[in-house]
Amino acid sequence: MPFDFGIDLGGTNTKIGLVDGAGKVRVRRVLATRAASGPAQALKRVAAVIDKLRKRRRVASVGIGIAGLVDHTAGIVRVPPNLPGWNGTPVKRTLEGFVGLPVYCANDANVVALGEWLYGAGRGCRHLLCVTLGTGVGGGIIADGRLLVGANDAAGEIGHAAIFADGLPCSCGHSGCVERYVGARYVEDRARKRVRAQMKRLKDHKNQTSLFPGMKAEGPSLMLEFAKGDASGITMREIGRAARAGDRLAMTLVEEVGDYLGTALANAVELLDPERIVIGGGVSGIGPPLLKAVRKSVFRRTQSLPGRKLDIVFSELGINAGIVGASRLRQLAVSS
Ligand SMILES: [Zn+2]
Repeated sequence: MPFDFGIDLGGTNTKIGLVDGAGKVRVRRVLATRAASGPAQALKRVAAVIDKLRKRRRVASVGIGIAGLVDHTAGIVRVPPNLPGWNGTPVKRTLEGFVGLPVYCANDANVVALGEWLYGAGRGCRHLLCVTLGTGVGGGIIADGRLLVGANDAAGEIGHAAIFADGLPCSCGHSGCVERYVGARYVEDRARKRVRAQMKRLKDHKNQTSLFPGMKAEGPSLMLEFAKGDASGITMREIGRAARAGDRLAMTLVEEVGDYLGTALANAVELLDPERIVIGGGVSGIGPPLLKAVRKSVFRRTQSLPGRKLDIVFSELGINAGIVGASRLRQLAVSS
């Protein structure tokens, strides 16, 4: 069986994998996207890696998942939030010109859903919803055994589903979007603010606990300790580690994130009735406390059907999900 290249093209990094017929990533390379240098330059560098890796191997296609709305038949990327200056780029035509192989393009979260469905945590499902939690929040839907792309190639954009009618402003120009509440940058920002507020509180009330017998002194959050005492160094890593260790401030934050995300997912569940929801992306690194909070929120907000078939699980393919899914776009194009 021939190999296919699967590419996950993001605002910061581009992951390129050579995937075998069984969906295994045999070789992987990661390069800086350098989106600002323009699409032609960036795609030329991707092509150079492809040329190097394909030597003496039979390769059938290149599949590529891109953050943004992607016209998957023409292979043109539109309004990519993290690729400034790329709007309207004919990725398919450009890359085909460089590598001489058929190129298939799709939205990055849609290819993650494809990867998880075929080889990961969504195997065997006919109805699947896959959510990627990172700086942005994306989604992909498998409905009745097919990837749902929608009328405008925009299906699955759950990050911009509103969970508050009059919420905080989002980068998309609207307000109250779930991405504005669970996107990595915003969660980290909230963690830092709360840790700083706690530090101030502890300092202000330093000598008062002895006045109240039986009152336990509140210790500083583990998030601060893990960030070596510098609140501005708190990232998803420290938040997750502290929550898993039972730190109260981190747990509260994670419960909120789970509740917000669960609200959006509950709406999706009512609409799509998936049998499984797969959660991936950097924020999912928080681990079990997040999954618990999401489940609680989803099941609290959806109609209680007796024996409802619905699992909520983490991604199995992790950072390879996009590569593996993109490598299967050729088969999808053939079957549709
Ligand atoms: Zn939005």
